[in-house]
Amino acid sequence: MRYSLASLLLNAFSGQSRWSPAWRNPEPAAHYDVVIVGGGGHGLATAHYLAKHHDVGRIAVLEKGYVGSGNVGRNTTIIRSNYLLPGNTAFYELSLKLWEGLEQDINFNAMVSQRGVLNLCHTDAQRDAYVRRGNAMRLNGVDAELLDADQVRAFVPFFNFDNARFPIKGGLLQKRGGTVRHDAVAWGYARAADRQGVDIIQHCEVTGLRIDKGKVTGVETTKGFIGAGKVALAGAGHSSRLAAMAGMRLPIESHVLQAFVSEALKPMIDTVVTFGAGHFYVSQSDKGGLVFGGDIDGYNSYAQRGNLPVVEDVMESAMALWPALGRVRLLRSWGGVMDMSMDGSPIIDKTPVGNLYLNAGWCYGGFKATPGSGYCFAHLIANDQPHPVADRLRLDRFARGALIDEKGVGAQPNLH
Ligand SMILES: Cc1cc2nc3c(=O)[nH]c(=O)nc-3n(C[C@H](O)[C@H](O)[C@H](O)COP(=O)(O)OP(=O)(O)OC[C@H]3O[C@@H](n4cnc5c(N)ncnc54)[C@H](O)[C@@H]3O)c2cc1C
Repeated sequence: MRYSLASLLLNAFSGQSRWSPAWRNPEPAAHYDVVIVGGGGHGLATAHYLAKHHDVGRIAVLEKGYVGSGNVGRNTTIIRSNYLLPGNTAFYELSLKLWEGLEQDINFNAMVSQRGVLNLCHTDAQRDAYVRRGNAMRLNGVDAELLDADQVRAFVPFFNFDNARFPIKGGLLQKRGGTVRHDAVAWGYARAADRQGVDIIQHCEVTGLRIDKGKVTGVETTKGFIGAGKVALAGAGHSSRLAAMAGMRLPIESHVLQAFVSEALKPMIDTVVTFGAGHFYVSQSDKGGLVFGGDIDGYNSYAQRGNLPVVEDVMESAMALWPALGRVRLLRSWGGVMDMSMDGSPIIDKTPVGNLYLNAGWCYGGFKATPGSGYCFAHLIANDQPHPVADRLRLDRFARGALIDEKGVGAQPNLH
């Protein structure tokens, strides 16, 4: 059923009894032309764009949990394309453009809200860095505005502007950035892919890859062997484990990242703000909770829960920026497993194993990339050629020394 005003009215007057399930729950077939491992945002988006734009035959998405149980339903929902480096700029801008048309494309209300993303600066050097970043963005056709302290104050007057250690000197604003309801993205892509014939198979864990004469021929799963012409890995925090099934060691470490939500409050902040003197960012959800997060926990883990030192670190930053938060109660927190690549940028590439493709290394910024990643990964799987905007996101860039190190800290995902 297509979602529309007519379908809303029809159901309103028929006891909400005519809705059909958003997607089917099929048993796996013996063979697919493309098997995507991982039913997170990236795997489902890949399935949608593959089915929509490429004639590749039968497609399945295999998910070990349920749709939305991974990072796609655990992130802090921020989207933006305020990147500096070639390799990232065009890719993330493509993704933001796809967000802008997403709800029409998949016929699903994902609550795309372009409320702006404002990065605060607290030193002259930081402002210089934002000038450089903003200029690079504008040269690439991406919107960026540099704000002085008074302009920031007009946006968010309640922050601590005159903090002795971290005075707010200005900020870099991307107005087209914002938030999207994360689990609606998973549901929307799942429904759209399903409507185009993709089999989404939940509670089906891939436990091994069958490789014959250097080519992948299928996957071993908890529901038995499934043959595949092509296998595409989109396991996010579990990428290293999936790659190990093909004997590959990735330049990736898995780390926990936590997020926090406060009790519901009246509207206080209508944009997304990042603190520039510590790892802290905040926005307000439509339910009223302040949503905020900080840095990774800093040790390798596959647990979807974090530790108290990072909670303290995030709360300290929150208090430095916005002292009134001290009166607010924290409602809940959770963690997700991040696939931290060694330069902080993702990988969308073929692997040395024939017909095996890899989508990984999204670190703590892969939600915003969901549409772009799915679009470019689908292009790669269908054509065996990288999409032009993703042609630097290659696996061999680490061996070639062609890193895309946006943060400029080198291969140190542990570094705070
Ligand atoms: C707390 C937190 C805050 C974040 N905030 C932001 C943000 O504000 N903005 C942003 O851009 N990014 C953010 N991120 C990062 C973002 O969520 C991830 O980079 C992105 O969601 C990863 O891609 P995905 O959606 O495909 O991952 P997932 O949803 O994790 O999908 C991977 C799927 O693969 C499945 N899987 C793994 N192994 C197997 C197997 N063997 N067999 C079958 N299935 C398997 C998993 O169950 C999982 O469902 C945040 C992440 C966290 C945890």
